Amino acid sequence: MTKWNSKPVNEQTATGEDQLSMIPAWSVVLAIAVFVAFQYLFHGIMPHHRHELLPMRLLTGYFWGTTFASYVLLIGYISRDVKRRRMPAALWMLVVVVMPGGIGAVVYFLLRQPLLTPCPNCGAELAQDAHFCPQCQFQMAPACGKCFHGVQITDVYCRHCGHDLAEDQAPARLRVYSD
Ligand SMILES: [Zn+2]
Ligand SMILES: [Zn+2]
Repeated sequence: MTKWNSKPVNEQTATGEDQLSMIPAWSVVLAIAVFVAFQYLFHGIMPHHRHELLPMRLLTGYFWGTTFASYVLLIGYISRDVKRRRMPAALWMLVVVVMPGGIGAVVYFLLRQPLLTPCPNCGAELAQDAHFCPQCQFQMAPACGKCFHGVQITDVYCRHCGHDLAEDQAPARLRVYSD
């Protein structure tokens, strides 16, 4: 039908499937290697004591293996996420890897730039909450024709100014949803 229908710009990056494809293969392989290495460390290398209980040893190995493997996956995710947000990749990878105990990752998630999506009309990079493309005026999301605040596609009146949204000359692709 329309561009809006074939490519829901605002949802395409929010799906779980899409998030999973953000984890590169190298980090999955590395995470498995890290997990196996921790099992080897706890059961093969570290000295066994008689008084130590086997379930405790199993649990400890499993816990640290999972923790570090998860962190490797997280670093893999960030390595892709940092690029699609047009942030300095090398700097952020350094921060995430070097800062201890996952603090680097926390800092990253606090400071990361909003996600950019290409304008379906002209391809300009837009923040995800953009209502209009600043380059070509393509309407990305429904907005009130009077106060220009964002509105829900199902709204009849603007929740900011009470304007009757039916009076607006909405683009055809947005009208499909409201009818
Ligand atoms: Zn545009
Ligand atoms: Zn309004």
